[in-house]
Amino acid sequence: MHCMAKKNILDYNSEELNELLKAHGYPSYRSKQVFKWVQRGVDSFEEMTNVPKDLRAFIDMHYHSGMPKKVRIRESKLDATKKYLFELSDGAVIETVLLVYSYGNTVCISSQVGCRMGCRFCASAQGGLVRDLSPGEMLGQVVAVQRDIGERISNIVIMGSGEPLDNYRNLITFLHLVNSKEGLNIGLRHVTVSTCGLVREIEKLAEEGLPVTLSVSLHAGDDETRKNLMPVARKYKIKEVIAACKKYAEKTGRRITFEYSLIDGVNDSDRDAGKVAELLAGVPCHVNLIPLNPIAEYGYSQSNRDRIMRFKGIVEKHGIPVTVRRELGRDLNGACGQLRASYISEKRPKQ
Ligand code: SF4
Repeated sequence: MHCMAKKNILDYNSEELNELLKAHGYPSYRSKQVFKWVQRGVDSFEEMTNVPKDLRAFIDMHYHSGMPKKVRIRESKLDATKKYLFELSDGAVIETVLLVYSYGNTVCISSQVGCRMGCRFCASAQGGLVRDLSPGEMLGQVVAVQRDIGERISNIVIMGSGEPLDNYRNLITFLHLVNSKEGLNIGLRHVTVSTCGLVREIEKLAEEGLPVTLSVSLHAGDDETRKNLMPVARKYKIKEVIAACKKYAEKTGRRITFEYSLIDGVNDSDRDAGKVAELLAGVPCHVNLIPLNPIAEYGYSQSNRDRIMRFKGIVEKHGIPVTVRRELGRDLNGACGQLRASYISEKRPKQ
């Protein structure tokens, strides 16, 4: 006898699950029951009390529930932000964050273990890409947080570790899963896909007919500055990125969000602000200024408050709406990816 790894049951949509169970003689109302349970999140299939024992045993033999293991949770003392360090079935660890806004509970999920985009200010880039997450592994983060807090999650941002458009097929499958009526039923207008600006994939996404919000990391007003911060800028010129965004907005009718981390003395001058305003003229968009979360190793620091407000004013003068991101969970030990990074370095054997 050989032992095959169990499959993640959250990777299947309701039709696929129905097919699987039908092939083993189970009627479709049974698969509906199972689907409902697993989408709500179960630690063990034994919890599915209205499902017959033999079916529970069958499922348990072939599948796991897709709920990641909580290895560490950090709760903010300043607000309701919660950071989770989750362990996946192969032992990989990822970060997921709960953010509580007036309009609802938002979960920020990871789309890959690590990332190969190498952005200079990002902790997730440090170890490179380990692997893609499956659709069910992305979903599992939402399901697990929802179960943990016992309240509905209404918004998702795919802004944790990984470049979601670098894991394109799985991302699309995930979007269909969270949008599923029998599942979490989260409207795609409440889902934000964050990208460092992969032009080909932005164009592809525009054709999918999925009204997700696209959030693009800009971080500079010209190619030279951007190349120093984001290696992806060597592949795509800033103008190509903006053109793809324009197309995306036209096709989907959705405004683009441009993310801009203000780094002291690097990209925060009046001239930079002017360039940004010029680039974005005519694009239905909104700019989100982010006071940089300093990562000590890179020697970057946060622009001061006056600089941020000046930058904001210049861009706004050109008719582009600008917000300064509220820093939730400010006490939770810095930037995204740092909880994972510190956990991994703790586990590494000391020299
Ligand atoms: S900022 Fe995003 S795209 Fe860039 S390295 Fe980090 S996770 Fe990857």
